[in-house]
Amino acid sequence: MYSNLVSFVQNEFGTTDFIPLHEPRFVGNEKKYVADAIDSTFVSSVGAYVNRFEEDFAKNTQQSYAVATVNGTAALHIAMLLAGVEKDTEVLTQALTFVATCNAISYLGAVPHFVDVDRTTLGMCPVKLASHLESVAEMRNGTCYNKITNRKISACVPMHTFGHIGAIESLVQVCNTYGIPLVEDAAEALGSYKNGKHAGSFGAVAAFSFNGNKVITAGGGGAITTNDETLAKRAKHLTTTAKIPHKYKYEHDAIGYNYRMPNLNAALLVAQLEQLPLFLKKKRALAERYEAFCTKERLQFIEEPKNTQSNYWLMALLLDSENQRDEFLEYTNTHGVMTRPIWQLMNRLPMFADCPSALLEDSEFLEARVVNIPSSVIL
Ligand SMILES: *Cc1c(COP(=O)(O)O)cnc(C)c1O
Repeated sequence: MYSNLVSFVQNEFGTTDFIPLHEPRFVGNEKKYVADAIDSTFVSSVGAYVNRFEEDFAKNTQQSYAVATVNGTAALHIAMLLAGVEKDTEVLTQALTFVATCNAISYLGAVPHFVDVDRTTLGMCPVKLASHLESVAEMRNGTCYNKITNRKISACVPMHTFGHIGAIESLVQVCNTYGIPLVEDAAEALGSYKNGKHAGSFGAVAAFSFNGNKVITAGGGGAITTNDETLAKRAKHLTTTAKIPHKYKYEHDAIGYNYRMPNLNAALLVAQLEQLPLFLKKKRALAERYEAFCTKERLQFIEEPKNTQSNYWLMALLLDSENQRDEFLEYTNTHGVMTRPIWQLMNRLPMFADCPSALLEDSEFLEARVVNIPSSVIL
């Protein structure tokens, strides 16, 4: 039934062997820079590649500062800590996200509070956010509280699903009226823009991931970006064990984290970042061919939202029903083409089952119908 799609994918990737969802590509200076890092003996907590990456990455994402971290979850953890998320507060986020968003909220002792997404952008819906806050939020001395649970609402963390940017400006507006800081989970969105502005440049602070399956990879890695100098300095301090700089003394002034990115990983990442324009071009071209194919086959390819340029990190189809989705997954995965359903909603997982939640109609609609298809860069 989906044999045309299987043939199309095999033809695109030039193989009838197993085709994974997203593979890394190392075709630039990766080996050279990694070898250089080894030769320098600076493979760990200090080294030139970390600084170089942070500068390059800030430029790439249109922010003044970037702090490299050991992974994207760690970046999210510190980004939220710096935005003021504390124990026993609530963080508005999507139920339709990767589990790392909610794990990072939990590391701070805070509780995820789920808001629905928009069917077309797959991102948090500002209209539903506003109407939900209208019914549950109450301002007390300039601070927003959930009047049902009596907990402070300390942040809002929308996520740019598969690299698509939704109605982020409107989300910022809604959050501003309640004095809620907005932290972008931009883990999937390196190279995505809305109205010319890069993902991560809309809120107070953002987190990115360079896990093996992301657009570029450090093996494992992440970054925090911001325009706020004080916040950037605290991010660097807290991710490097909160050590006060000194020639030889161990002095620490806070409970810090060993979250820095090793120089060895940064070397790989500097080379990957050089490849980003090529990767984005190739991914966009593949997305266009998928789209043309899907139109012909009467399948619905999920396109980038209006006024945005998506990185097309993971490409996706919207199928007609849960049954059709299950047939699709079964057929493709038994014919050598890896496909995957979108994440299970976070409120279905045992550790988040009791979290406060708005109605999640569109999240549930998408959960039952969205699948990812092979999206690696084809060189
Ligand atoms: C990949 C990802 C992360 C976390 O990244 P790691 O580097 O794997 O820790 C966080 N949020 C989302 C939405 C992601 O896709």
